Amino acid sequence: MEKIRIELTQNPKKKPEGDNLPFGVYTSDHMFLMNYDEGQGWHDPRIVPYAPFQMDPACMVLHYAQEIFEGMKAYYGVDGKIRLFRPEENFKRMNTSCERLCIPEVDVDFCVQAVKELVKVDRDWIPTAPNTSLYIRPFIFATDIHIGVHASHSYQFCIVLSPVGPYYATGINPVRIMIEQDDVRAVRGGTGYTKCGGNYAASLRAGERAAQKGFSQVLWLDGVEQKYIEEVGAMNVLFKIGDEIVTPALVGSILPGITRKSCLELLRSWGMKVTERRISVDELVGCAADGRLIEAFGSGTAAVVSPIGELNYAGKNYVIGEGQIGEVTQKLYDQLTGIQWGRCEDTFGWTVIVE
Ligand SMILES: *Cc1c(COP(=O)(O)O)cnc(C)c1O
Repeated sequence: MEKIRIELTQNPKKKPEGDNLPFGVYTSDHMFLMNYDEGQGWHDPRIVPYAPFQMDPACMVLHYAQEIFEGMKAYYGVDGKIRLFRPEENFKRMNTSCERLCIPEVDVDFCVQAVKELVKVDRDWIPTAPNTSLYIRPFIFATDIHIGVHASHSYQFCIVLSPVGPYYATGINPVRIMIEQDDVRAVRGGTGYTKCGGNYAASLRAGERAAQKGFSQVLWLDGVEQKYIEEVGAMNVLFKIGDEIVTPALVGSILPGITRKSCLELLRSWGMKVTERRISVDELVGCAADGRLIEAFGSGTAAVVSPIGELNYAGKNYVIGEGQIGEVTQKLYDQLTGIQWGRCEDTFGWTVIVE
């Protein structure tokens, strides 16, 4: 692959003041770009001043949503080192998404290198207050100018950076979740296992309805029988039933989260019993009703883990763990964030130091 060309901005933006960094609001001074053209492959990798794209109204992505993305973070450690968390996993997953959406794959090591270079250029944008981080958003979209359905012959790859505050500003608060009975997010043979924008478009309506009723997210059931638990919004879901951790198996309609994978590896290293299998909603609410459901939590890059204090299904509420964060959820949070900010030893070799 070619060397990454760097063009620095002449007009640096004013950085946000203080620790008030709501998710997704601010972007840094630079972005990474490269382009794909048939016959040429991925080419012209460059770091340039952050700027809008110019787009023809017939640009394919605007009509047929051939687009995928990733989400990861850079952490300013307690030792002053900048860490990434399992970044190669993100680009391997990006390639899985590429394959499903007929987008040409990328070179994993080169993309990790691109992230490192971009984070170095914008290192002053990494917030340093406790539990803040720099969110990294790589994405690819179709750029053929053609109002006709086909796989595009040209693509734009981009990485942007966004400083984000602590997910839990006032301590970890358990969330209220509604189990969705009408809409589905993913179907058998569909794109559920990929991070594509279209999955989110399809999930918005249920999310809006749940929010109106005071729930923070939707728990999805499978799209075939609407009977089995899949995942929550942008998080995978794990349960402590008795002394066993149970999570839905990755059956193709569920996004294989890197946080989920890391939680399972940690739990197994602690000698806990971990099972990946189908869990029906009836089994789950049955366990919640008779007290066997001890903990429930979501896992994802944004929140790390998010305890579920209450589930709603078919008009009935089920309170879990008296609405408090559970012991295992807390331990996973402490261990994962400890590794990410360099407070704990990284015995798994999960972190990549930026320089
Ligand atoms: C990104 C995402 C997750 C979490 O994945 P992580 O790699 O842990 O951040 C879970 N579910 C969906 C639908 C997602 O898009």
